[in-house]
Amino acid sequence: MSKRIMVVDDSRLVRVQLGDILEGTDYEIAAYCRSGEDAIAQYEEVNPDLVTMDIIMHEMDGLDASEIILKQHPDARIVMISSLAYDDTYERAKSIGVKGFVDKPFHKEKLLEVFEQALR
Ligand SMILES: [Mg+2]
Repeated sequence: MSKRIMVVDDSRLVRVQLGDILEGTDYEIAAYCRSGEDAIAQYEEVNPDLVTMDIIMHEMDGLDASEIILKQHPDARIVMISSLAYDDTYERAKSIGVKGFVDKPFHKEKLLEVFEQALR
């Protein structure tokens, strides 16, 4: 059975790229969210197997949104996808309970590898 992904990114281009990359894989996109607020609001209803989370978004950033989702749903599996590749960003993501990190620009192989690890 395919795994259901909730994609959170404020960039339409990135949402489209992720959709293209995941086509024909064992992953299907269950929902697209354009903001952290949207992700928090939709999480329970979508109940995804995995969330991909951008960091820099217009209002609430992806780290704050992940923290809130993980407080409400400790079993949530969240993978950050961001170009914000600083050590303190990785550290904070880890301390929140995020399962993985993919740098932008991303490639299919790396993405699927991190998804697999996160779902293990
Ligand atoms: Mg962004």
